[in-house]
Amino acid sequence: MICIENVSKIYRRGQEEVHALVNLSLQVEAGEFLAVVGPSGSGKSTLMNIIGLLDRPTSGHISIAGRPIEKLSTKEMEALRRNTIGFVFQQFLLVPTMTALQNVMLPMYFAGNSAARKRATELLSRVGLGNRLLHLPSQMSGGEIQRVAVARALANNPSILLADEPTGNLDSHAAEDIFSLLHEVNRSGTTIIVVTHNAELAASLPRTITIRDGRMIADVKKDTSIA
Ligand code: ADP
Repeated sequence: MICIENVSKIYRRGQEEVHALVNLSLQVEAGEFLAVVGPSGSGKSTLMNIIGLLDRPTSGHISIAGRPIEKLSTKEMEALRRNTIGFVFQQFLLVPTMTALQNVMLPMYFAGNSAARKRATELLSRVGLGNRLLHLPSQMSGGEIQRVAVARALANNPSILLADEPTGNLDSHAAEDIFSLLHEVNRSGTTIIVVTHNAELAASLPRTITIRDGRMIADVKKDTSIA
């Protein structure tokens, strides 16, 4: 589903070069749910932006859903991103003047989905907000807003969900609720990669990769086949 081979990313800041990712390789199969952990500045967001097709690597090879990225034009990359990938960020990034329903409808509107309202209503019910359709972000709790963000990320039925610190601003109870929701989304077949500082929540996932100074220093898979 996601194949990354020897990917490096160098940012230039004036004279200075920042090696955000160094020869990183990672394979993720369809249906996996994995955590990315590591200290601040280690390259986690850079990796998510590259997997999420928001940025291109400086060198290395990437293919997403069987499509080699280096062969795609920017337009093709945008189309692949729109059809394949959903994002949830730490900062919720909902449109503050739009209701929950309108926020979830927005990506479907851009994708030309005429059944946007019906699907947005269903998605908000699925994340437990069937009674908050017409609330504005300012009228919801942090946990509820993040649920709307998850519903919005699922709008175009992505096969991959990328979540960058989705519980960073939440109390532990709301954070657990968001992880339960992500588990439910994963069980329905969506591949999920989540960046988290929360060691306990990371430990609840079948696979954790650790990044330090742009390099992968650990890739731990738990055997979940034993009941
Ligand atoms: P993390 O998500 O683990 O905190 P990041 O991927 O955000 O790490 O950053 C990795 C390194 O790349 C850091 O040193 C950061 O300062 C640098 N970096 C990230 N984005 C940019 C950018 N757009 N321009 C220059 N440097 C950047």
